[in-house]
Amino acid sequence: MSLPERASFAHATRRIIIERSHAAHVGHIGSALSIADLVAAVVDGALQGEGPDRDRLVLSKGHAALALYAALHLTGRLDAEQLASYCADGTRLGVHPEPGLDGVDFGTGSLGQGLSIGAGAALAAKRQGSGRRVFVIMSDAELNEGSVWEAAMFAAHHRLDNLVLLVDLNGQQAMNYTPEVIDLGDVAEKFSVFGWDAQTTPGHDHAALDAAIAHAAGATGRPSVIVASTTFGYGVSFMESVIDWHYLPLTDEQLATALADLDRLAVSA
Ligand SMILES: [Mg+2]
Repeated sequence: MSLPERASFAHATRRIIIERSHAAHVGHIGSALSIADLVAAVVDGALQGEGPDRDRLVLSKGHAALALYAALHLTGRLDAEQLASYCADGTRLGVHPEPGLDGVDFGTGSLGQGLSIGAGAALAAKRQGSGRRVFVIMSDAELNEGSVWEAAMFAAHHRLDNLVLLVDLNGQQAMNYTPEVIDLGDVAEKFSVFGWDAQTTPGHDHAALDAAIAHAAGATGRPSVIVASTTFGYGVSFMESVIDWHYLPLTDEQLATALADLDRLAVSA
């Protein structure tokens, strides 16, 4: 897919996030917008293969599942009726992703666990002689969890070069900005010291994201991390970098403003 087509895909993802979260009166909108481009780069770009040997995606920050559902819809794996059921009674599309949906292999949302899941899946692929790769998308605040660094050591020890971690470095979390909670310092340097191939990249630039993912594919003998600088609530004027939008749902008036903001962003991009 060309870069303009990828940008259109990401724009459509953002519109779906806004429309479905408003319809369901559910929050986590800023977190989903933060990773819309990362999800587009993986789901629409990086993931390859079919059947048991297909690449896997672990959405460690499961509360941003709406970004994943949108991308699965745009790639034809969720129909419009399923998408419209987001957070309705009896739906398969909850606030956090659950296995059973096409494109969702792992239930996630228990924060700090996704890298351990991904490392295990990557080790399994190695032991099965499969060429499949495993991508993990994780929030920056999840790096506060010790389990992440256990998984980082495990992945380097087992030389899991089929594992790619994308960190959504938006600088904030549910209740505060990350430097006020636990200052993460130089995230790429930390992973590098743990034996990983580490890159930093702008997180809303598709050419840069594709280049980083391509570089990661060439890293041999060690896992890869792509530390992507993102903006929480990206594309919506009143939401960008505002803590309250971790949880708030949209009013009708805010819905119209948000969609207009996104359309302006798409035109200017
Ligand atoms: Mg964050």
